[in-house]
Amino acid sequence: MKKFSADWVFPVSSEPIENGVVITDDTGTILAIERREQHDPASLDIRRGALVPGFVNTHCHLELSHMKGKVNTGTGLIPFITSVVTQRNASPEAIADAIEQAEAEMLAGGIVALGDISNAPDTAEVKAKGRMRYYTFIELFDFLQETGAEKAFSDWLAVYEQHAPAPGSTKALVPHAPYTVSKSLFQKINDFNEKSGITVSIHNQETPPENELFEQGSGAFYDFYGKFNISLEHFQPTGEPSIFYALEHLNPTNRTLFVHNTLTTQTDIEAAHAWSPNVFWATCPNANLYIENRLPDYRHFLDTNARLTIGTDSLTSNWQLSILEEMKTIARYQSFVPFETLLRWATLNGAQALGFDDTLGSLEVGKTPGIVLLQGLAPDFRLVAEASVRRLV
Ligand SMILES: [Zn+2]
Repeated sequence: MKKFSADWVFPVSSEPIENGVVITDDTGTILAIERREQHDPASLDIRRGALVPGFVNTHCHLELSHMKGKVNTGTGLIPFITSVVTQRNASPEAIADAIEQAEAEMLAGGIVALGDISNAPDTAEVKAKGRMRYYTFIELFDFLQETGAEKAFSDWLAVYEQHAPAPGSTKALVPHAPYTVSKSLFQKINDFNEKSGITVSIHNQETPPENELFEQGSGAFYDFYGKFNISLEHFQPTGEPSIFYALEHLNPTNRTLFVHNTLTTQTDIEAAHAWSPNVFWATCPNANLYIENRLPDYRHFLDTNARLTIGTDSLTSNWQLSILEEMKTIARYQSFVPFETLLRWATLNGAQALGFDDTLGSLEVGKTPGIVLLQGLAPDFRLVAEASVRRLV
């Protein structure tokens, strides 16, 4: 049995406790949450700072870890994707080493679960070791070519079969983004996923040309596809922002995790909430700054009671894989988001989005959420630049 105490304990599922105590067994299962006065101080492991649950990173591409620092910042999504597509090849050893290191970085930073996009089987080996709970999203796209749906589906079904999740982890086939998935491919994904209650992730409204494609049938995606000799001649604009195309073709009985949402408006959020009660929104602020040098307006999400989660995206589009650094970025640029709200995004909301809240996301009796020591929090709980984390359990 271990008894940890700190200036503050943030269970997330309940009110913070000053001088709280978290008692675990040797496997990390929480046995009790108490107050310091109930204990002999000599029996406690007392730390300065705050005890919080392990972080849940809801969006990453571990398999792109070897491209750290290779793609320019601030160019916008389309040049970014072009760089990734043309530069992602590397030796299997280099790819495997980078994946291993990236996972180690996340574990050291207090991350206990990951929603991870896979286009390839490269991450399967590391994930099978079960050091984190993984939700592997095998991501499909056919560049809006109805005729390409069949081949895309069978190619990625083969990748899906090569991922063998460790106990507690899982996998699903998911669409990449509205601007890359035809109606036929959405249908095949839905048919395959058939049972409801899974999590489906989809990139959403990350760049202005994405909405322009759907609203007006024009914009930079036409040139982008043209360069790869892909025709959008048959594409029918819907006259609405891109998320509406996704809502029309996704299954509302699943949990849906919209990722990025940099340009998502209050109207878009309300439409998604009306479509399904199981909607989550993953924000990856550092990746948004890296790629497009812009951030979502978090007021839209606060005003609509949206359930936000936090992702790091990959090392191709970020300087590190740290949920704490993502929280700091939001606290720096949109300081109206309270610390406790950020913490919920980083823990419980993420666990719920991935369906991992049976064991993770909050300091509650019976869970094994990991216990993270957060140091350097200001007295009013402001998340200052110097704040750091260490995993205790
Ligand atoms: Zn992504």
